[in-house]
Amino acid sequence: MSHDPNCLFCKIAAGEIPSTKVHEDDEFVAFRDIRPAAETHVLVIPRKHIATLTDCHESDAPLLGRMLVLVARLADKLGVAYTGGETGFRTVINTGPGGGQEVYHLHAHLLAGPRPWLRMG
Ligand code: 5GP
Ligand code: ZN
Repeated sequence: MSHDPNCLFCKIAAGEIPSTKVHEDDEFVAFRDIRPAAETHVLVIPRKHIATLTDCHESDAPLLGRMLVLVARLADKLGVAYTGGETGFRTVINTGPGGGQEVYHLHAHLLAGPRPWLRMG
């Protein structure tokens, strides 16, 4: 299913629920986490509804690759890229309750900023 009408992140991607977007294109949307764990905390989601990383197949490999490259480009855009010294950011994909996943639409967390972080630290 490319759009799940009951899914929070599908609704955010469609603009039906407001969010602070930092990027939008045909395939992905990135927006600020409503409960940021770090100074910079952005979620990158595909517009396609995929519940978890476990639900990904070989055919999703190009999408997953582009999603990670987008994370890196957004880190550049948001001023948190790894440029040497003490700089850099963290990328997290939680999968299932055991992985701490709360929203069942695939997303990558992009976290950066001074420690301590509130969670995921
Ligand atoms: P997960 O735990 O599933 O990896 O991450 C879900 C993230 O979505 C959490 O960090 C949570 O704060 C964030 N989140 C949950 N609901 C909303 C919302 O309505 N808007 C935004 N921007 N973020 C949300
Ligand atoms: Zn969804």
